[in-house]
Amino acid sequence: MGFFKHFNRGLKKTRDSVAGAIDAALQDKVEVDDEFYDDLEEILIMADVGMQTSLEIVDELRDRVRSKKLRWTYEVKKEIQNIVAEKLSGGDMDLVTIPAVLLVIGVNGVGKTTSIGKMAAYFKNDGKKVILGAADTFRAAAIDQLQIWADRAGVDLVKHKEGADPAAVVYDTICAAKARDDDIIICDTAGRLHNKKNLMEELSKIYKVIDRELPYADTEILLVLDATTGQNAISQAKEFGNICELTGIILTKLDGTAKGGVVLAIRNELKLPVKFIGVGEGIDDLKPFDPEAFAQAMFVDSDEKAGNEPEEK
Ligand code: GDP
Ligand code: MG
Repeated sequence: MGFFKHFNRGLKKTRDSVAGAIDAALQDKVEVDDEFYDDLEEILIMADVGMQTSLEIVDELRDRVRSKKLRWTYEVKKEIQNIVAEKLSGGDMDLVTIPAVLLVIGVNGVGKTTSIGKMAAYFKNDGKKVILGAADTFRAAAIDQLQIWADRAGVDLVKHKEGADPAAVVYDTICAAKARDDDIIICDTAGRLHNKKNLMEELSKIYKVIDRELPYADTEILLVLDATTGQNAISQAKEFGNICELTGIILTKLDGTAKGGVVLAIRNELKLPVKFIGVGEGIDDLKPFDPEAFAQAMFVDSDEKAGNEPEEK
């Protein structure tokens, strides 16, 4: 499936509400006026873009409409898209060292294990040798679930028994990766935010192992957030940000929400780049985040874009 089509389908609910509302707000208008800016602000807030970020977007749009002397509604719509894409830019993943490490954290149910399986398939498709570490040892089912994903993606998995020390699993995964010349190590973790002290200790033990065994490795600490939880996702990011140094976000379940604007709030308010987005439950339903494709998928309805989509594969 073409990249844009895929993105587009995953963001359908958000687009239907956002693009539809913007068109309605612009209907019968020859030029944009104050009423439109108010409507736009409300539309963005409804899509979970967040108050602060919505205001910034609207202010920026006002400035640009004035300075660029934009008149037509299609020009204004295009400018909204540009502003959003700019706000979302930055944060490409730099996984140059061999191996590089991805540590995946987040509360239960947000989609950590699923996203790890999808990333394994993504990197493997990209020609990388991937190994997974089942460092969520809290429940046996979590280990089994990761095994299923490892098999599906066709990559190796290092696992211990339920209740084992997560840092020991990470250590063994790193040793296996060194022995097999793997390019990318991805480790699952348990997400018990309600037991902060334990989680903090567990994570810091894991970092220590990574630091000691792979001091020069490119390391990403990716927090998984469920887009359907809206503003709650923002507070989770703040809490995790207090206990560890995050390098980016994986935002899942965008297919299940009309509030995909939360991506903007995360990027802009938390200053954390979104690295991947989940747009479904299938193995290819995780995409590296592309700010322009996202802005387009959020604001342009499919009829308008029919002309510039790549062919279906
Ligand atoms: P974990 O507890 O964080 O490891 O979460 P899981 O990976 O077990 O996922 C919890 C549920 O969310 C599963 O039923 C997944 O299929 C589902 N899920 C994960 N990512 C997505 C996504 O992008 N879209 C949809 N619709 N479901 C997802
Ligand atoms: Mg899990």
